[in-house]
Amino acid sequence: MRTVFQYFVNANAAYLICIAAVLIVVVAIYVNDVAFATALQLDGFQASYEMAFALVNFTLALLLFLRAKRVQSRLLLCLGVAFFLLGMRELASVLVLNIPAFAALEHLYSVAAYAFIYIAVFIGLYTYEHNRQALKASQKEINELKMALDAHAIVAVTDSRGVITRVNDKFCTISQYPREDLIGRTHKVINSGHHPKEFFTDLWSTITRGEVWNGEVCNRAKDGSLYWVQSSIVPFFGKDGKPDQYVAIRADITSRKEAEAETQRMALHDALTGLPNRRLMNDRLIKTIQSKERYPGFGAVLLMDLDHFKEVNDTLGHALGDELLRKIAQRLTDCVRKVDTVARLGGDEFVIILDKVGFDSASAIANTKHIGEKIRNALAEPYLLGAHQLNVTPSLGVVLFEAFDDDSEELIKQADIALYSAKEAGRNQLCFFEAALQEETNQRAMILQDLRKVLERDELVLFYQPVVNTEQKTLGFEALVRWFHPERGPISPVDFIPLAEQSGLIIPIGAWILESACQQLAQWNRQPERAHWTLAVNVSARQFNQVGFAEQIQEVLQRTGARADRLRLELTESMLHDNIDSTIVKMETLRQLGIRFSLDDFGTGYSSLSYLKMLPLDQLKIDKSFVDDIFDDPSHAAIARTIMALAKSLDLNVVAEGVETQQQLDWLLENGCKAFQGYFFSHPLPINEVEARLLASEQAAQ
Ligand code: C2E
Ligand code: CA
Ligand code: CA
Repeated sequence: MRTVFQYFVNANAAYLICIAAVLIVVVAIYVNDVAFATALQLDGFQASYEMAFALVNFTLALLLFLRAKRVQSRLLLCLGVAFFLLGMRELASVLVLNIPAFAALEHLYSVAAYAFIYIAVFIGLYTYEHNRQALKASQKEINELKMALDAHAIVAVTDSRGVITRVNDKFCTISQYPREDLIGRTHKVINSGHHPKEFFTDLWSTITRGEVWNGEVCNRAKDGSLYWVQSSIVPFFGKDGKPDQYVAIRADITSRKEAEAETQRMALHDALTGLPNRRLMNDRLIKTIQSKERYPGFGAVLLMDLDHFKEVNDTLGHALGDELLRKIAQRLTDCVRKVDTVARLGGDEFVIILDKVGFDSASAIANTKHIGEKIRNALAEPYLLGAHQLNVTPSLGVVLFEAFDDDSEELIKQADIALYSAKEAGRNQLCFFEAALQEETNQRAMILQDLRKVLERDELVLFYQPVVNTEQKTLGFEALVRWFHPERGPISPVDFIPLAEQSGLIIPIGAWILESACQQLAQWNRQPERAHWTLAVNVSARQFNQVGFAEQIQEVLQRTGARADRLRLELTESMLHDNIDSTIVKMETLRQLGIRFSLDDFGTGYSSLSYLKMLPLDQLKIDKSFVDDIFDDPSHAAIARTIMALAKSLDLNVVAEGVETQQQLDWLLENGCKAFQGYFFSHPLPINEVEARLLASEQAAQ
């Protein structure tokens, strides 16, 4: 039905009907030969009111057509046609009152007009019902949307000044304010103070321009807690075209923000202690340095490392090691001010950045020293770890900085150099960075570079120093390595052996030393008058601890043909502390081959008697420092005597090192020493000079 109407009831059809109605009247006038003059003759009262109705109907029809065209309404179109027809009916009745044909026409128009009125009524009813249904549906839809929105979003409506006019339940729940506390007030109620003023200026200028503002806002609930919302503020326009209200729709993103903050915290903090990590420390250091431009004066970086922390981990286990680090972090934090930074770089390495330690270098040094001491004292207090009580000491390297020290990495490097010298100086102390230290470090780095090429350039030479008996007859030699650097000249093993140890280069260098020494030993072994000589080779910790050391020695002995029972390995006390059991196994394996062991620099370490007894040793070497001081320092003389007594009781022989004078020799002889080494007999010499001297003395003896 509806489509039928749609098809027929349209503007063209309506106008056609109207034109047809007019034409029919004109044709009827013509056919009936009614003179127009007669036709228009107004007759009495009835004719004039009929004309008036006709005019009213035509006017109404015109208005309805115009309206129908404007709003595209079929209903109005139908009514327009109906009124037009009614007008025509009136006209027809006025025109020829007495002609029967016109009476029929009058009826026809009436019927047609009624028909159009019915159609209009039908359309009206239909449209009304349709619209009612549609309205209901859209109301339902709006309600559902509102419910969904209320369930998920925090909604507030404000007027153009930002005064809250409406809020939903979620808004009240999250802000913890009852509705009546919010209505009539602005969002300042929930301002957290987190955002700068410009943030809100920007927000307002966006929405007052009529644009939608999107962003994340931190608000404060009634109990003071903070919450984050993702906000969209939509302006609605009034008649004047300006926004007259704003609807803010927000989603709670607090947990996401917290997770983000936690991720960021984790990325910048050390998981074990919760202290800032290297990255954050670096950021803070850069900021502190930059702040010096505004607030001149000194700041300080303290790089701290625990002494012998590895031992704590090894003996008590990692769990207690971690516990110790946490306690240390706490004590460090307690030692400094809020503006300072305590960071953990990893392992047992911590950095403390001190801001504003003084305006001039003297007061900066004094203040930093004071804080450093405070830290040392705080850390020196014993730690209770499970059932264990523990003492730990730190070494600290310090560097001061000012505004123009803009390279944070360089500062850390300098603090590291200072830390290195604090450790070298015996640990448990604080050392300031000095330019000279830098020079030393640079030197070390250069030497290390060249040390890597020392074997391929063939720059190492073994020197030999004799060990003699009470009659100053040669018992054997100690092989001492020398490095002849093409530019720097001879470099002492005291300078390069520790570097070789640290860098691992001692492994190939040590292998070369062993090889050269065994070749020399094999040569002497083949000469009957020298076959009894022993050759002592110094072995460093890393070399001794490497896997396969025993096999390596065995292989070198086989290849060179040197006698194992003439080879002596010199070990130092410190290298025997770690893994005492495997050390003994290793020494026993080598001893089975006939190799003998000397304990070098004896008296300078911390050997305990109990384990001295466990080691398959054969000789102790009294350190040169005791021999040096036997006449100056009674305690050193006593130590030298004790060592000799100890050796006797353990059935070990003794060599006194560094004998330089006749008096020293006499004293040692008097006290029962049987073997000696030192400049008094011979400096360490290259093999050709050793041979030449031997030859000379042999010739003299003949
Ligand atoms: P060390 O094993 O205690 O060697 C003895 C050091 O004392 C040698 O110094 C020797 O030249 C020096 N010396 C000997 N008699 C006297 C004396 O009467 N007066 C004075 N003032 N000094 C004397 P050198 O050769 O400079 O070696 C120093 C250290 O370097 C050695 O101490 C040893 O620890 C290490 N070293 C030397 N050669 C080697 C080697 O081939 N391998 C390893 N791993 N270390 C070596
Ligand atoms: Ca030695
Ligand atoms: Ca020595």
